[in-house]
Amino acid sequence: MVQQRGLLSDPEVIKNQFPIFSKHPKLVYLDNAATTQRSQSVIDRISNFHQQENASIRRGAYRLASQATQGFEAGRAAIANFFGASSSECIAFTSGTTESINIVARSIIGPKVKEGSNIVVTLMEHHANFIPWQVLCQEKSLELRVAPLNDRGELDMNKFEELIDYRTVVVAVTHISNTLGTINPISEIIQLAHRQRASVLIDVAQSATLYPINVQELDCDFLVCSAHKMFGPFGVGILYVNPRHHQSVQPYNYGGGIIHSVTVNKTDFLPYPRNLEAGTPNVAGVIGIAEAIRFIQTLDRKKINQQLHELTAYARQQLAEIEGLSLVGNPNNSSSIVSFTMDGMHPHDISSFLNEDNIAVRAGQHCTQPLLDQLGLPATVRASFSAYNCLEDVDKLVTSLREMKSFWT
Ligand code: PLP
Repeated sequence: MVQQRGLLSDPEVIKNQFPIFSKHPKLVYLDNAATTQRSQSVIDRISNFHQQENASIRRGAYRLASQATQGFEAGRAAIANFFGASSSECIAFTSGTTESINIVARSIIGPKVKEGSNIVVTLMEHHANFIPWQVLCQEKSLELRVAPLNDRGELDMNKFEELIDYRTVVVAVTHISNTLGTINPISEIIQLAHRQRASVLIDVAQSATLYPINVQELDCDFLVCSAHKMFGPFGVGILYVNPRHHQSVQPYNYGGGIIHSVTVNKTDFLPYPRNLEAGTPNVAGVIGIAEAIRFIQTLDRKKINQQLHELTAYARQQLAEIEGLSLVGNPNNSSSIVSFTMDGMHPHDISSFLNEDNIAVRAGQHCTQPLLDQLGLPATVRASFSAYNCLEDVDKLVTSLREMKSFWT
């Protein structure tokens, strides 16, 4: 199981591209839903920028400044191309998924929304795609409608459809649940919403790396994600805005870099996306995410998805065999995320125990408190896999959990 058409799919080969694993050879990294590791190519690119190319963009006539500007704009073009956008001008850079969603709520939807309208989200949203809408609804007297889940942890599509009506301004939905691993039918959701003339924001924070996403084919209104979950650096977010909304985008922060002209009385702003990028941007970060995209394009994503699907099914089956362990959610269409609890043991204690065996998982509410409240759980343990994880990682997790159980019971 090695390279196909020159693309990488073997987890060991991919792992070798990530220097953190040679620094920590025993590390079993199963916290990819929180952040992925960085490839050597991304680290080198960012380091080279700082060592050889560092300059602030746009306002300098000297060579370094214009090269940095070109690198930054090439990053925008690479992202646009990666998501199949019609032009680079559809992409704005932010600090992360969270900021991208806040921008859509505050600077695009908020200014034009009318009292009595509603916003539809789902019970599985990350707080980043929940609270900005909840606050907007409170401020503007809108109704927040929360689509429920069935017992498997999937969206109940009939109920979801009933919630969307002619007063719905936006449907904000995650592609993949960061707690349950559920993959939502985003194409169907976009069609349902558009039938009622509602806009759709899709949060692809958990899916952007491995699932090909084409914004023009989907015809979504907004798409958001974070570089650090895509083998890229912290502090860079992506916001795609469909051209039909460009005129409606208002500045989010005010300052340099977004203006056409300023007088003591009045400021004229540049159009989207420039009007969202006030201040000096994270130039090295954008150059870093462009390199991460290049890295992703060396991967055989189809094959890796198939492997991850098998690996996750194997993990679910092995974990379910541990007495007293309950899987949280059992979606038919699931990604590489598994949540579970164990009788009589707090998830935080479980993750501390696993840490003793160099296994990195996350324990907590995963920023999905409404979902956990509904499930009646204070927290879960979450294992999340990426292209460099293999069946042996699952075996180590399961062995460690079994040892823990025999130690504690
Ligand atoms: N949306 C989802 C589905 C996530 O999993 C996360 C982070 O875990 C976020 C949004 C927030 O991302 P960030 O913290 O990078 O802004």
